[in-house]
Amino acid sequence: MLGSVERDLAHRALDTARTRGATYADARFVRRAVEDVLVKNGHLQNVDRSDIFGFSVRAIADGAWGFAASPVLTADEADRVAALAVEVARASALTKREDARLAPVKPVTATYTTPVEIDPWTMRFDERLQPLLDADAAMRQAQPTLRTTRASYEIWREEKLFVSSEGADIAQTLYETGASIAAESVGNGEQQIRTYPGSGGRSQNTAGWEYALKWELAKNAPRLADEAVALLTAKQCPQDIRTSVILSSNQLMLQCHESCGHPIELDRALGTGAAFAGTSFLTPDRLGSFRFGSEHVNIAIDSTRTGGLGTFGYDDEGVPASEGWAVKDGVFVGYLMSRETAAALGKTSNGTMRADGWSRLPLIRMTNVSVMPGSAGTLEDLIADTDDGIYMDTNRSWSIDDKRLNFQFGTQLGWEIKNGKRTTMLRNPTYTGMTPEFWGSCDAVCSESEWVMWGTPNCGKGQPGQIGHTGHGAAPARFRNVRVGVVN
Ligand SMILES: [Zn+2]
Repeated sequence: MLGSVERDLAHRALDTARTRGATYADARFVRRAVEDVLVKNGHLQNVDRSDIFGFSVRAIADGAWGFAASPVLTADEADRVAALAVEVARASALTKREDARLAPVKPVTATYTTPVEIDPWTMRFDERLQPLLDADAAMRQAQPTLRTTRASYEIWREEKLFVSSEGADIAQTLYETGASIAAESVGNGEQQIRTYPGSGGRSQNTAGWEYALKWELAKNAPRLADEAVALLTAKQCPQDIRTSVILSSNQLMLQCHESCGHPIELDRALGTGAAFAGTSFLTPDRLGSFRFGSEHVNIAIDSTRTGGLGTFGYDDEGVPASEGWAVKDGVFVGYLMSRETAAALGKTSNGTMRADGWSRLPLIRMTNVSVMPGSAGTLEDLIADTDDGIYMDTNRSWSIDDKRLNFQFGTQLGWEIKNGKRTTMLRNPTYTGMTPEFWGSCDAVCSESEWVMWGTPNCGKGQPGQIGHTGHGAAPARFRNVRVGVVN
């Protein structure tokens, strides 16, 4: 955890900012260590290690924001960066529309560390590598004709110190672990892929190495390999029909990310710099009354839940982690907010400001935006309750418009459901819809036992671009009368 050396520099920077005329300032010191490892076709393909450290200062002067950052950790540099942040603020003030206002937050002195069972950073490299080699070998053994097999992990440790002119002093150490395998097949004019446990990228959690072990990659590898090969000759998904669709938990998580998580970002919804964040159909006049989905749809904003990629003690404005709702019984009731955007609505921040490392401004980012479980039992119960439909599993492709209204998703795998039974495997399944209509057609969500906290480590936002790590819990859910198999 960062300590007195960084704290002294942070206070020096805040003093300088105040002396130069800042009415508010905060300093963030961030040290991030990451290791990415990829095994491909039986060989260790890539080891990528980084350890980066730096700090930044945000300041309000003359009612406008300024920002500056540096990787040089000296007293002189703390002075220079703080002075520059104030200078940028004064320059920005020349074109401001109104003064920056911050919703109040209680400044605290606090620490937070992700609970981990097995610290991956204390393991030997070969101990981390072995599960990847084993899983890769198990895929190739099951299906020697696979074109590509991949197994990968990422481990991450971020130490952060946040100090503000209001008196906050918050030190945190966040750990993340993610792992995945993929099998790619080619033949019969087809190219198919199966990934596990999540889609395209890794599924990642705030956790230690126990999270990589929990998925039992090698044990699931043969099934994955078999499915990738079976997809080559599987029945084509029916084209342009309407039917019932059951989404897997890892597909529902992405559906939630794209069609709920992004439109509830309040910077989008306020339209403050559409090029920066995009726009949203969930405008503030709709807060508290707009029907987002059916009464089965409950979507939580919760940065306190163990394991989520948006789980922490405090956000990058020193606001504590919190629990609340984005959608309650189908009605849109809550945004992801910062101190400044919350003030615009007369509210207080729910703590969603996060920066990608030391060199970037914090932005409103999804924390854990999760579809909460319903009462439909297990996935098998839900399938048994469905006369006619398609089960769609694990994302393959997605597109959604800027307002987050019209979307199309494709999944890696589909299964026909006939008379309550999973029957024939389908390849290239796709579905399309309009966000509120689609969530409005949800008539069942599986129970707690099927609920998984997924995490996606690749959400892009901002200019210059930042990569966010966001959490999404989900269970399988059923949607009625969905358009399926639309080819662009
Ligand atoms: Zn995203």
